[in-house]
Formats: sequence, C-alpha cells, structure tokens
Amino acid sequence: MTAPLHPDTVAVHSGRSDLEALGVHALPIDLSTTNPLPDIERGGDSYEAMATGGRPPADGSMVYARLWNPTVGRFEDALAELEHAEAAVAFASGMAAMTAVILAHGPAAGKNHVVAVRPLYGGTDHLLGSGLLGVETTYCHPAEVAASIRPDTGLVVVETPANPTLEIADIAAVVAQAGVVPVIVDNTFATPVLQNPLDHGAAMSLHSATKYLGGHGDVIAGVVACDEQTAEALRRVRAVTGGLLHPLGAYLLHRGLATLPVRMRAQQESARRIVQWLIDRPEIAEVFYPGLDDDPQGIIQRQMRGTGAMIAMRMQGGYAAASAVTSSTSLFTHAVSLGGVDSLIQHPAALTHRPVPAEARPDADVLRLSIGLENVDDLIADLAQAFAALSRVEGTVASGRPWA
Ligand SMILES: *Cc1c(COP(=O)(O)O)cnc(C)c1O
Repeated sequence: MTAPLHPDTVAVHSGRSDLEALGVHALPIDLSTTNPLPDIERGGDSYEAMATGGRPPADGSMVYARLWNPTVGRFEDALAELEHAEAAVAFASGMAAMTAVILAHGPAAGKNHVVAVRPLYGGTDHLLGSGLLGVETTYCHPAEVAASIRPDTGLVVVETPANPTLEIADIAAVVAQAGVVPVIVDNTFATPVLQNPLDHGAAMSLHSATKYLGGHGDVIAGVVACDEQTAEALRRVRAVTGGLLHPLGAYLLHRGLATLPVRMRAQQESARRIVQWLIDRPEIAEVFYPGLDDDPQGIIQRQMRGTGAMIAMRMQGGYAAASAVTSSTSLFTHAVSLGGVDSLIQHPAALTHRPVPAEARPDADVLRLSIGLENVDDLIADLAQAFAALSRVEGTVASGRPWA
C-alpha cells in the first residue's frame, strides 16, 4: 500500500486516468453536441440513466451534451478528488451552481425554506432573497443556525471566509446546528488547497470556479463537490435547466488546477506581506484578514491550511478616500471578480454587494483587494502611490454616494 498522494500531486494528475488508453497526454477537448447511438434500446437506456442524474452506461452513449460531456467530466473528477468528495458537478457559473443546489434541496425535495449565514457574496444573498426559486430565506449569524431551522428547511448556506470582509464561520459547528439539514459551504475564497469543507461535515463545497480555480480571468464557471447521491440530484437539475459548463471552459479550468496550489501559496504569501504593511498605514482604519484577531476559538487552525489571498480594508478617509484609491492604482486593476494571476481592487458596497439589503451591505468605506502573482514590493509601491495621491485629493472628492 502506498501513501496517499500530496494535494500538489493530485492537482497535476487528477481527472486524467483515461488519457493513456486514449493514447494522448494533454487533456482532449470534445465539442460534440450529439453522439452516435449504438441502437435505439441502448440509446434510450443511456438517455434515461443520465436524465435521472447518472453517468453514461459503459455500453451506451453520451447521447447529447446537455446530459454528459467527457471534457467536463474529467474536470469534475479532478475537482472531486481535490475536495475529498465522491463527485463534483460543474455549471455555467457560480450562480448557476448555487441555483441548482437551491432547486435540488428546495422545491425538488419538497422543502421551501433555506437558512443562510451572513455575510455572503452579494449575488448569493440576492438570489436567496429574491423569491425567484420558490424558497423563503432566513438570514442569520453562525450562532443562530439551530434556532433558524424549521421543519421545511432543506438547506443551510454558509460562506467561509466570507466575501468581502473575510469573516470565518466554524464549519463543524454550523453542521452540528443544522442537524439533518445539509450544509453547503461556499469555498470560493479558500479553494480546496486551503480548506476541504466535506472533511468537517458539510454536504457540499461550492466554488465560483471563475475565481481561483480558473485563476486567469477568462472562464465563467461554477462547481459543486459532494457525494454521488447529491451529484445525481444536481445533474438532474442541470440536465433539465441547461446551466452547462462549456467544454472549452472545462478544459481551461482543468489545465489551471495543476498550478492552483502553487498560485495559492504565492498569492497568499504576498497577501500576508501586504496585510502587515497596511496595518501600519495612517490611511487605513481597519484591515480585514483571517487570523488578525488571533483565531480565539482555534477555528482557522482546525479547518484551514492557510488564510488566503483576499484582503479587505476600511479607509480612514471614508467613501471619498475609497473612491480616490480605486482611481489611483495602476497595477491593481479597478474591477470586480478575484482570484486571478493579476491583482484587483473594488468597492463591494457599490458593486459585488450592491443588491444586498442596506442592513447587510458592506460599509461605504471598505475596499476589497485580490492579490495576484505580481512582485509584492511592486504591489506595495502601487498602493503607496495611490495613498500618496489620496492625501493630495482628500477633502476635494465628493462623498455624495451613500452606499451604506
Ligand atoms: C463570484 C462569486 C460567486 C458567483 O460566481 P459566478 O461565477 O460569478 O457566478 C459566488 N460566491 C462567491 C464567494 C463569489 O466570489
């Protein structure tokens, strides 16, 4: 018996077990929308197997790409292995993935209530509160999960570290409070490199693969890692609603997984340096980064292998200063999204968290940074020159947009 492979090795080799038999080394891209059927019987049986959430039978056909695509399937297998899960199901975006999870655990399961721990990514908060999917949502703090569960609760949603201010929730404690109700953890910020929610009792780990998994800002995708039974329910929703990941996107994501651990460690190391630098700056009122309050309950120590490469900061000069900084950086692109090889800066209250009700929206003086792979001294110099510009404009920038 050999020792289990290190995650770095899994990231390079997973989802490639059929390549040798195919006689190829790089990941093949299959763009077929339809597939030959061996005969009506086996074609029909294949259709039935996949429309109800199964995989294509060995002697059958993949039938139609809304039911199955092998390029997407390989990425799913790779992500599942990295997440210590039996299976994974990929979607057209993180929001399509969350939609499928809510549909599968709400209306399709005869339930109409969701418990959601705030803070959450703005799009998720908005989707849950919109009523669009036929579920009612109770928003709560991590300690209120048990009290928020009802007989008709089908799902508990939690994000940790949370977008945008990096709050940490204790996954095992939320799972314990949820009882028999499945818990989904949005693991976008941590990635499987730093955190595996299923190891702490979560039923599902969701990623906006658009962010770190893709890592290069050129794919929109979502993926959910879970057990095979849950995967069947999610594939059923995907087959019916059609929120598919295109095979070209799956190829890019799978290719990017190989460098994910290395990217994550390098970006995290720079983020830690930048956090230390920000803490001492007079322009900064507060830095948000996991572990800065010394992890009093040992949660980070228990469930994470690192604190990641996302930072939020509260500007001493309020919204006016936040606005000026976003206009003054040059290496940090002023743009939403995160987790790529290049650094980004954005204002959550006005953008990513704009649809969140005012009482739960981030403050107007908070900015979010995604640290990329540039040299950290160059990144610090870019922030320093933006802060220097700030002292010149302070008092002259209108603070007229009341985001919070
Ligand atoms: C971006 C994001 C999402 C939504 O994903 P899309 O791929 O943009 O649909 C969900 N959760 C978190 C934490 C995110 O940052």
